[in-house]
Amino acid sequence: MLIDSHAHLDSPRYSDDREAMLRRAWDAGVGAVLAIGIGEEPAEMHQAYDICRQFKGQPGIPRLYASAGVYPHNTSEIDDAILAKLDGLLAAPEVIACGEIGLDYYHEGAPHATQREGLIRLLEIAAARKRPILIHCRPKDETTNAWDDLFEILEAHWRPTGLGGIMHCFGGNLEQARRSLDLGFLVSFAGNLTYPKAQPLRDVAARLPLDRLLVETDAPWLAPAPYRGKRNEPAWVNLTAQTLAGLRGVSEQEIAQATTKNFNRLFDLSPDVGN
Ligand SMILES: [Zn+2]
Repeated sequence: MLIDSHAHLDSPRYSDDREAMLRRAWDAGVGAVLAIGIGEEPAEMHQAYDICRQFKGQPGIPRLYASAGVYPHNTSEIDDAILAKLDGLLAAPEVIACGEIGLDYYHEGAPHATQREGLIRLLEIAAARKRPILIHCRPKDETTNAWDDLFEILEAHWRPTGLGGIMHCFGGNLEQARRSLDLGFLVSFAGNLTYPKAQPLRDVAARLPLDRLLVETDAPWLAPAPYRGKRNEPAWVNLTAQTLAGLRGVSEQEIAQATTKNFNRLFDLSPDVGN
């Protein structure tokens, strides 16, 4: 069984076939999916949890968990109502993580200072609810300041909680991966691991300890080869797992077992939570 640690199941791109898409995932050996609750704006952060409840306990569908958070470029919208909504969602047992949150200096959007201040407020809520966090970190090409700023914030505001989290769709270098591990994070690889130009990333993935790795789709984005450019879906997480297995000279089954164990350990999951 594989776990897709990051998929946007609430995307409107699944409006016509969400249930069939989830059945394809189950048939492909995906036992659980973490549905990311950021919507297209903070007002929609409950949608992942709604999907989680909609399919709860249905046979032939992966166990679903949800997260809730505010995407870096939506941090200028943070107000007391949004923070209260996030806090309420994180109280639900199925909403196991706060995210994706973090810093994105790659795209134009919320000013960097607004992103940093927003992230710190979100960390306070997650810490109070004792929820691990899902981090999105994207620097501008050839720069490291997003990572530098992120680590500074996590050292001060997250390490003391001991809660850890996931570096989602990891795209950093070996040093940034090691700092993430040192902060108690798991490192999650997405479909871009399979792309021809991603050799530096594959070199990083080959060198990290297996007991700290996860795989994800980030669906509907980042479809792995040979589906690159198409709408992605959790069924295809096995292609990233295959690439990771090849890099490390282990079987795909070993990758599946290790990443599932890592996921369950981080979130302290008991079998009665989720689907
Ligand atoms: Zn995402």
